[in-house]
Amino acid sequence: MSGITKKLDILKQLFENLSDTDKQVFLTSVSQKEQVTKVIQPKQITNCPHCQSTHFVKNGTKCNNQRYLCRDCKKSFVEQTGTILYNSQKDIEVWEKYIHCMIEKYPLRKCAKICNINLATAFAWRHKILDALQNMMNEVELDGVAQADETYSTISYKGNHKNFNLPRPAHKRGTRATKRGISKEQVCVPCGVNLNGLSIARISDLGKPSLKDLQKVLDGKVAKDSVFVTDSLRPYQKLLLDMNLSHIRILRGKRAVGTFNIQTINSYYSRLKNMIVHRFKGVTTKYLNNYLVYHNFVNFAKDSLANKEAVLLDFIRKTICYVQSADVAKRPAISV
Ligand SMILES: [Zn+2]
Repeated sequence: MSGITKKLDILKQLFENLSDTDKQVFLTSVSQKEQVTKVIQPKQITNCPHCQSTHFVKNGTKCNNQRYLCRDCKKSFVEQTGTILYNSQKDIEVWEKYIHCMIEKYPLRKCAKICNINLATAFAWRHKILDALQNMMNEVELDGVAQADETYSTISYKGNHKNFNLPRPAHKRGTRATKRGISKEQVCVPCGVNLNGLSIARISDLGKPSLKDLQKVLDGKVAKDSVFVTDSLRPYQKLLLDMNLSHIRILRGKRAVGTFNIQTINSYYSRLKNMIVHRFKGVTTKYLNNYLVYHNFVNFAKDSLANKEAVLLDFIRKTICYVQSADVAKRPAISV
């Protein structure tokens, strides 16, 4: 059997094991071109942004936005009330430009110049948008053949020296941790990806991951009937047993088991590293989770850049955000 026939055969077998409903879901998902868009549509407005009441009615439109009137607090609101855009002094056109710059992964200075905003604003906007993207990514569930692995990033306190006592002497960015192997100087980032461009990644803890660390990131995030491929790291066995998933372990020194491998996640990592090290010249650990969703959405998700731009703009238009620009830089140094 040739490689592709073998793969098709496995797919066919996996498909036969699905329930009728899941078969239908699968068929719809492969026939749908805009996978990404489908998974991450923002939620409809469900509460009044002033008092959280669910008792509100439509009340005409204003500048193409639906207006609502809350029956409880008597205040009116539009779709954008409480969203990133609502409190912004800038027009939607500036935000559109900014989103374009983000999808192109332009450095902050270039974003600021193109949008004619100052650097501090460009910085705050980037992280408000990425915070919103975190919500979008929280909805992701891996299905089909998924691969998991973990990577490490040396703790970086870049730009964080004023209000933080460094536990070790500062070293230049990009230099290696002083201890050999995996030490407590490195944050661990467990990741899961599937072959359709869906991905999950966030910081779990310092040093090698325990079962609890892996659970924190992957538990409940994988559809039943999926096949999960990992390396030989021990905690995965218990994790996938608990999650009741088929588990394929690639032992140390091996590249593949049959047609199963961890190539997709390896390429996910090399592109992540490329973005963080070469494009953004290193990122502070406290913003690393934001850059992970940035990577997941812009680099890894399978959709055109133009579609991603539209999806992201639509999403932030509808996502409620309570973070003030001034608070973005105040978050704690390591978010584990
Ligand atoms: Zn209200």
